[in-house]
Amino acid sequence: SKKVFCIGELLIDFVAENQGADLTKAVHFTKKAGGAPANVACAISKLGGKSAFIGCVGDDPFGTYLLNTLGACYVDLSLVQRSDIFTTLAFVSLAEDGERDFVFSRGADRELTYDSSIKTEFRDQMVHLGAATALLGGPLEKAYGHYLFDAITENAFISFDPNYRADLWKENENTFIKKCTPYIEKSHLCKFSLEEARMLSGKSGLEEASNALHKMGTAIVAITMGSEGTWISTKNTQRTIPSIPVTPVDTTGAGDAFIGCLLEQISELSSPSELLENDELLVKMVGVANKAGAITTTGYGAIDSLPEKDQLNSLP
Ligand code: ATP
Repeated sequence: SKKVFCIGELLIDFVAENQGADLTKAVHFTKKAGGAPANVACAISKLGGKSAFIGCVGDDPFGTYLLNTLGACYVDLSLVQRSDIFTTLAFVSLAEDGERDFVFSRGADRELTYDSSIKTEFRDQMVHLGAATALLGGPLEKAYGHYLFDAITENAFISFDPNYRADLWKENENTFIKKCTPYIEKSHLCKFSLEEARMLSGKSGLEEASNALHKMGTAIVAITMGSEGTWISTKNTQRTIPSIPVTPVDTTGAGDAFIGCLLEQISELSSPSELLENDELLVKMVGVANKAGAITTTGYGAIDSLPEKDQLNSLP
């Protein structure tokens, strides 16, 4: 199978234990490994696929904890960088009104520097760009652009998930849209939430939004809609693949499990470009990826609740 290189953020989420308190009042926090592209790398490896993570953590105990967590999922960590700058930390709490209270201490993840010697490893493999913090400037943003270019020249299958975080972009939606455009243009597969698809296409309906996103460049659009299923769109097919009914306890990481599971299946094809001509195969794979998303919502945390292959197969 092909290796999937997942590039971007890896950070600690400190999640307040007692819900209903904003961060000024929260007392106890639980340490969790976070970062969308890192979750995707874990999802792929836990399913038996090959993944490598490219990102930067601090040379401190939190960085070591993060790498241990990814290592326990069998993610290849040989391309990870460590920095004197402290590991990136996020603190999150649900306030009384149900609003998310969030602060972010940006650290080492921003410091990933471009390494031109990696390029040849991308040859005919797969590259997943799960942006989130990656487009917020610094060395990481520069490295992102270079790795996108390398993935193109090395004939890699490219997937992109913008992972928009309103907390981080605030009034800069237009900058975010502008920065995402080249990634949508060059990716084979893009995964969006409905909010992201609307923002990035400027259209509100699923069909219109997908058509606009195809026009920007991407051949496959997947829009995940929680319990409402996943909308997929290619040049020949537009349809919703229903979700698997479950009783969710924590939806964190469902989107990462979904795209990880989809990429893992694609990595088993002899040529991922097969998928671009075979909508039936795509529909089947998205059905399986929906199972991975659903299972992830039934357990706490993002990485801990990612399924293994047996669990996927045990669902009808
Ligand atoms: P996150 O940002 O939390 O990772 P997301 O918004 O990227 O999530 P979702 O749409 O919440 O992604 O979930 C991805 C997929 O997981 C969905 O397409 C669906 O298949 C599955 N899923 C998520 N929530 C549920 C749910 N409540 N019931 C069943 N399946 C779900």
